[in-house]
This record gives sequence, C-alpha cells and structure tokens, in this order.
Amino acid sequence: MTSPQRTAAVIGAGFGGLALAIRLQSAGIQTSLFEKRDKPGGRAYVYSDDGFTFDAGPTVITDPDCLEQLWALSGRKISDYVTLLPVKPFYQLCWEDGYRFDYANDQDEIDRQIRAKSPEDVEGYHRFLRYSEDLYREGYEKLGTVPFLNFWSMIKAAPQLVRLESHRSVYSKVSQFIKDDQLRQAFSFHSLLVGGNPFQTSSIYALIHALERKGGVWFAKGGTGALIAGMVKLFEDLGGKVYLNAEIDRIEIEGDRAKALVLKSGDRHVFDQIASNADVVHTYKHMLRGTARGEANAKSLEAKRFSMSLFVVYFGLKTQHPELKHHMVLFGPRYRELISEIFGADGLADDFSLYLHAPSVTDDSLAPPGSSAYYVLSPVPHLGTADIDWDVQGPKYRDRILKYLNDRYIPGLLDDLVTVRHFTPFDFRSELNAHLGSAFSVEPILTQSAWFRPHNRDDDISNLYIVGAGTHPGAGIPGVVGSAKATAGLMIEDAKA
Ligand SMILES: Cc1cc2nc3c(=O)[nH]c(=O)nc-3n(C[C@H](O)[C@H](O)[C@H](O)COP(=O)(O)OP(=O)(O)OC[C@H]3O[C@@H](n4cnc5c(N)ncnc54)[C@H](O)[C@@H]3O)c2cc1C
Repeated sequence: MTSPQRTAAVIGAGFGGLALAIRLQSAGIQTSLFEKRDKPGGRAYVYSDDGFTFDAGPTVITDPDCLEQLWALSGRKISDYVTLLPVKPFYQLCWEDGYRFDYANDQDEIDRQIRAKSPEDVEGYHRFLRYSEDLYREGYEKLGTVPFLNFWSMIKAAPQLVRLESHRSVYSKVSQFIKDDQLRQAFSFHSLLVGGNPFQTSSIYALIHALERKGGVWFAKGGTGALIAGMVKLFEDLGGKVYLNAEIDRIEIEGDRAKALVLKSGDRHVFDQIASNADVVHTYKHMLRGTARGEANAKSLEAKRFSMSLFVVYFGLKTQHPELKHHMVLFGPRYRELISEIFGADGLADDFSLYLHAPSVTDDSLAPPGSSAYYVLSPVPHLGTADIDWDVQGPKYRDRILKYLNDRYIPGLLDDLVTVRHFTPFDFRSELNAHLGSAFSVEPILTQSAWFRPHNRDDDISNLYIVGAGTHPGAGIPGVVGSAKATAGLMIEDAKA
C-alpha cells in the first residue's frame, strides 16, 4: 500500500511563499497557499490606476537563474510563462552636483567612467570586483540556500567569513578599495536594497555587486506583477491551490506539532506541514498567540533590530520622458548622515535620497499611449525608530518628493500628473502585517544572519517552517527565493519520515 499524499499549507503569497509552494507541489506534496490580500505578490503587489500599471515593490530582478530553477523542477521553461527583458544600464546614479554614473554590465564602460572620475580607483575597483566575486561564491552560492539550524553549521562557515572580513561593514570594505567619495557611495548603497545600513551591515552584502554583474539586471515584461502571475500559473498548473482574501488568524498547535490553520472567516483546514511567509513577528505573536512557543519566540524576535521602512509614491504622467533611465538612484546632499538618521533618528530628515523607477522606458505596456508610469521611494525610519503620524505627514512628504523630482529630474511633472498614490510605514504595518512597518524584516547585520536569523524550521514545533525575508538568507528576490529552496529541502525531507 502506498502512503497517502502529504499536504502542506503556505501562509502568504510573497515571492518566498510562492517559490516554496511551487517547490513543494513539484515534489508531489499537495500544497495550498493562503493570502490575506485580494492579489498575490506581497511586497510585489500591483496597482492598476487610470490605465497605469504600478508594481508596488521589487522591480530590479537579479539572478534570473534562481527563478528559472522553479520551472525546471517540473521540466518547464520560465520563458513559456513570462518574458524577462535585460535592463541597460543597470542603474543610473545621480548626484545633486550634476555628476552621473551609468552602472552598466560592461567592464570597459565602467573602467572608462571610473578613470574619468578618479583614475587611481580603476585598479581598486578591479580588486573590489574580485573581492565581491569571492563573497558571492562563499556567501551566496555555498551558503545562500543552506538552512542554518544549529550552531555547528555556523562554525563550519566561520573560517571563510573571517577570511573575507565579514565583521567589517560594506562601506568600510568598499573604502579600502576605492578612494573617491561618490564612487564609494556608488559601490556601497546596494545593501540598502535588502534593508541593510551600508555603514553597519556585514561586508558579506557587498556580494550583491558580483550577483548583478554575473546574472544581470532584468525586468519582467508587463511588470514584476507579470512574473508573480507566471509563478501563480505555474503553481496552479502543477495542481496547487491558491486562496485569496484568506487571512490566517491562528495556527493550531497540538503537542509539538502544528495541526491546522484557522482563517479569519472561521474556516479550518488540517495539514501535515505548515509554513509561514508572513512577517516573523506576526507569525509568532499573532498566529501562535496563547502558545508557550509563540509567546517566547515573539519576545525574542521583538528584541531584534528591524530594517528601515520605505515611503513610496506611484505616479502616472500624460507625457513620456525617454531621457530617463529605467532604474535611477538620486543621491541627496548627505550620505552617511542621512543613512544614520534613517536607521536611528526620531523624525524625518529634511533631505532625502531616492530610488526612481521609470519602467516605461523599457516597456510601453504599463501606461496609456503617450503616457508613462513611475514610482519613487524614499527610505525612512521604521515605526519603532520614529514616531511619525504618516496620515498627516504622508501627503506633505509626497508633495515634497514630487516637487524635488519636478525641479531636478522630470520637468513638467507637476503639470502632467494624471494619477498618484502613496504607501507609508503605516501601510506596511496594516496591509502586510509588517512588524514596525519594516520594509525588509529582520535587519541584515552579522549578529542577525545565518544561524542567528530566525530558522527555516521552528526549533520546537517540528512541522512548522518559515520562508521569506525574515529567515535565512534574508530579503530581496534572490534572498527569499533562496530561503524557499532551504525551507523546501527541509519540508520535503521531513515529509518522507
Ligand atoms: C518598495 C520595495 C521595493 C523593493 N525593490 C526590490 C527590488 O527591486 N529587487 C529585489 O530583489 N527586492 C526588492 N525589494 C525587497 C523584496 O521585495 C522583498 O524582500 C520580498 O519581495 C519579500 O518577499 P517575502 O517572500 O518575504 O514576502 P512578502 O512580499 O512580504 O509577502 C508576505 C505575504 O504574506 C501575507 N500575509 C501576512 N499576514 C498574513 C496572514 N495572517 N494570512 C495570510 N497572509 C498573510 C502578506 O499579505 C504578503 O502577501 C523591495 C521591497 C520593497 C518594499
């Protein structure tokens, strides 16, 4: 007699939850995905306003290979579901003094620009690239999808981490190789993309540079939402079930086992295994409330440091701006001081550094003919750092940012505005159940990485798992898709027992 098919539930349809659900379903585990909101994607939600399509969150797709693997598991091809377009340059970096650096995947072009700015840094950049490639091999290829469940797994990795000086910050390592102040900013800001302060986060995160150089920067045709739709279709084609508007209220525990999910609606579903892609504090504090494990772990998680939040403005213009680049980083007048305030000050700084997403220069399907779609984001303190009433400050902050763009980068913006909406730390908290409204969950510092991060399988509840930004390896699409590989490996192995 064959054993009955195993069943699993994944709570939350972010990139991590979807990738895990695909891996489990591909391995023959009957998997159900429960999402609180009316659409899948989590941080990669999509707004459709007045004929414009706005990706809410991730737009820089790196390491396409980690996504392709999800299709390859069942002998399928990603290209049958979604088209990935290369983005050139990767980013344009702009400063207020007018200096611009096109960060492209072209060694000669990078060398030419560095030479023009700071000739002595060309050789230093080459050494930095080699260092970053080394980090990439050790930190991403070898350790990125390994679940760190015990301290010994950490000890095994320690010699490499020591050799690579991972106790130093990203900025301090970059500064060891590069002397020019603006180029130091250009090669150190990347850790912010996964919620890390470049002055404090481990230099391990400088691997992002090699990750981008190696795998390229891509954009899904139709927007990141089209990639999410492709992942949902793949999961459903494999026989998986997606429940939207299905907020989980409670995970029922029996002894040391997770038994069932209870929805807000009162519906109850029993599973062999349960994984949460929801915020880690929300998972333990809310969904496991009233249990000893839930209460103890929520307390220890709340004592951790969380990444900053973001303020995002989505806007559509009735004109087009082909002079812009797809991804633009607009540095403000201050770098170190601003970042320090974002991570530590009880208030909003007067200046800002922005990321501008201008996808219409790559893909004309996101706006009505002759128009263009954008979002601009500003990193801001999370709600535990700064007590800001975003209902009051949000509209004012939005207007300041739009005026800044209008005056410096997109002339005519204020006259051509057709549609606008914004998303604040309050929304991260209420829409995504994000602890303190953090945009990237547990902050990626060395003492909160690998084994020190919430584990991919709960230490006490043997069939409860975590996937997504709050577990190993961390935030960003490659991070959470890597976490799905680590978590799926455990779940598939455990299901055989
Ligand atoms: C504005 C922004 C821009 C970004 N840009 C990039 C980028 O360009 N490139 C990149 O690689 N990364 C980027 N990131 C980071 C990246 O988007 C995230 O790290 C990643 O998408 C998080 O995925 P996740 O799997 O952890 O789940 P999330 O996206 O956090 O999804 C979790 C899901 O759980 C659901 N949920 C919560 N509670 C419950 C419940 N009780 N019941 C049911 N469901 C629940 C939520 O509704 C949500 O859908 C960006 C992030 C933001 C916010």
